[in-house]
Amino acid sequence: MKFFYLASNPNDNGLHEVHDRDCEHIPTTYDRDYLGPFNTGNEAMRKAMTLKKKVGLCENCCKSENKPPIFSIK
Ligand SMILES: [Zn+2]
Repeated sequence: MKFFYLASNPNDNGLHEVHDRDCEHIPTTYDRDYLGPFNTGNEAMRKAMTLKKKVGLCENCCKSENKPPIFSIK
């Protein structure tokens, strides 16, 4: 179980990135929302999608999971 956060500001691709708590690229406390504890970044992303329309997994902390990197609500 890891603790995940969602970046408040979009990255260069317009996506709000999901990070785990230990990620070196995680935004500061003021620029992130707490998502909760999840087993995988993918689960955290499902929660993130209820908060933002365009979310993506951080490539630094979540890329090891072999899942599609981007989801968007249609
Ligand atoms: Zn990250």
